[in-house]
Amino acid sequence: MMNFHILTLFPEMVMQGLHTSILGRAVEREHISIEAVNIRDYTLDKHGKVDDYTYGGGAGMLMQAQPVFDAWQAVADGIAARGASPGRVIYVTPQGKTFHQKMAQELAAEEDLIFLCGHYEGIDERVLEEIVTDEVSIGDYVLTGGELPAMVMIDAIARLVPGVLHNTDSAVTESFYDGLLEYPQYSRPEVWHDRRVPPILLSGDHAKVDAWRLEQSILRTKERRPDLYEVYCNKNL
Ligand code: SAM
Repeated sequence: MMNFHILTLFPEMVMQGLHTSILGRAVEREHISIEAVNIRDYTLDKHGKVDDYTYGGGAGMLMQAQPVFDAWQAVADGIAARGASPGRVIYVTPQGKTFHQKMAQELAAEEDLIFLCGHYEGIDERVLEEIVTDEVSIGDYVLTGGELPAMVMIDAIARLVPGVLHNTDSAVTESFYDGLLEYPQYSRPEVWHDRRVPPILLSGDHAKVDAWRLEQSILRTKERRPDLYEVYCNKNL
């Protein structure tokens, strides 16, 4: 069982997004748990404020250290009470390392992961220095908040947790697993808009099908992601 904890100002957004379809079923079957902790619940400000102006000036508001720290402390205490080792704290930020499949595989081996979602201009640096173990970005663009990046990462990690996908093969044959993009796939009918399913896939010859798929994967990777193809060639050829 893997436990995801999300520190956010918008818990309903992540809970709705992550409780549908495959992940919703994985929660029901207790392969994973997902809790969203509302940072606002931990502010000591009597008006419920969690953000303030940035020292030195500049546009926009910054999330303050105190509510973020206390929300994290509550989650960390819960994890410690279970006797588990302290969870890694991932601050999702455009300034972090770019997320990729290998990182998802590595994180899927953890028991607890804490995601910290920023909003507005971000979060006071001092609390980041105290609690964050990893800074991760989902790409070189700026979003309004960390909720979507946290959801992207949790989706990619959760589907690698044993039991979440029905067929463990599907994670193994997918794009990026072996450094290649996945081959093209077809379902019924055999002919659609005058387009035929490649006959080899109907041959029943599994060795030939596997060889065709590998060839297609290599061709596709060469064409669409020459960067990945180069790494694949250096490793395999
Ligand atoms: N001022 C910050 C900067 O320039 O690095 C950007 C703040 S952004 C408007 C608000 C929050 O959205 C960030 O604190 C972060 O949590 C999240 N965020 C935005 N873009 C992201 C990305 N590409 N990857 C991960 N998180 C992102």
